[in-house]
Amino acid sequence: MADQEDIVLEARDVTRTFMISAGFMKGKKPLHAVNGINLKVPRGEVLGLVGESGCGKSTLAKMLLGLLPPTAGMLYVGGTPTSEMERLDMARKVQPVFQDPYSSLNPRKTIGDIISLPVRVQGGDAAAGGKDLRLRVEEIMELVGLPRRLYRNFPNQLSGGQRQRVAVARALINRPEVVICDEPTSALDVSVQSQILNLLQDLRSELNLTYIVISHNLAVVEHMATRVAVMYLGRLVEVADTDSLFDNPQHPYTKALLQSVLTPDPNLDVPDAGLGVAYPNPVDPPSGCTFHPRCVDCMDHCSVVAPRTIPTKTGLVECHLYDENQGRGRQAS
Ligand code: SF4
Repeated sequence: MADQEDIVLEARDVTRTFMISAGFMKGKKPLHAVNGINLKVPRGEVLGLVGESGCGKSTLAKMLLGLLPPTAGMLYVGGTPTSEMERLDMARKVQPVFQDPYSSLNPRKTIGDIISLPVRVQGGDAAAGGKDLRLRVEEIMELVGLPRRLYRNFPNQLSGGQRQRVAVARALINRPEVVICDEPTSALDVSVQSQILNLLQDLRSELNLTYIVISHNLAVVEHMATRVAVMYLGRLVEVADTDSLFDNPQHPYTKALLQSVLTPDPNLDVPDAGLGVAYPNPVDPPSGCTFHPRCVDCMDHCSVVAPRTIPTKTGLVECHLYDENQGRGRQAS
């Protein structure tokens, strides 16, 4: 376990609840998009975050970026509660790289303007003057593999891979501590995906960055992440180092997700857990273990009793199969 001072991001019982309409004349019901998450991310780690659409990944990412406050629990960046941080201070420390470099770059701004925007808005050591800022932008362009001559070009004059490099440069110019990579390559041609992944890897080592990599594509997560967190209906159901998770998954949901990757369907970008039962409505989640209607290992008490969080060698698992206290489980290896 890393020392406390090495923890760059921490979630303590973080919950985000939305009140949404339950239907005509039925009032509102709570939707727990993120439900009591505990997580520590040491500096330099690449944490992969996986799960089906609607599992809460994006809501968690928005909270980590300071775009949404938790409705309960506490988030810490560098040991400081985010509730005590100014929005711009938070933005300097945690930056996003979004999925689609086509829509995330303003088409009317030059590459130089786009990359320098965080410095101009958030401040930072490169904001000292126009000349220094230009130099800083050109340096970061070089770092991400963009020729300096593109400074005055517009996004539509660049390739998809170059645009994503612009997005990476914009994220890094204020030297954040954490970068949230939300599907960083899914909008790119296959031929340039590995270039961007390798660039992100190189930059992490060079700048001692911490990444949260959110992806439907488990191959991307396996390639990049040092540890993986699996989300289901707002909960972390398994966290483990990458080799352990891919070689020896513990939770039945993780096993199903990994099996979905083996489906030789080139159109299947989003994992189809292949469980034969649809993803539950998060407004009306199943009782007990929320995965029980889809679980091939479901036992009698699974529909009644929610599993507790069980620490494992490299993370955690939430499943009665591994709970010694249930008196019928087997210990996670
Ligand atoms: Fe399956 Fe029961 Fe484990 Fe839930 S607690 S994943 S239903 S075995």
